[in-house]
Amino acid sequence: MPNPDKPRDRPTVPEVLPLARVVYARHCGGCCAHVVIDDGNVEQVFANHALDRAREQMHQDCMNLCEALVRMTPTQRKKIYQSYEKRP
Ligand SMILES: [Zn+2]
Repeated sequence: MPNPDKPRDRPTVPEVLPLARVVYARHCGGCCAHVVIDDGNVEQVFANHALDRAREQMHQDCMNLCEALVRMTPTQRKKIYQSYEKRP
């Protein structure tokens, strides 16, 4: 069932997994998104911090991933964290 309350700019888990895979292909610990998708800190503050870090580091692949992560719900981020498909 589609959720009518879902904001249209919220990415889905299947959309974000390939972005995570790109980062993991370069960095086995998830690079700037490490705290969220490798350690499982799914609260908003950690996603925001990961995006700040990606921008500081100017890692385009991390920015693509983290910009999606900050728009997701904690439950969605937890699914990314728990998914084996995030790894290449
Ligand atoms: Zn990075």
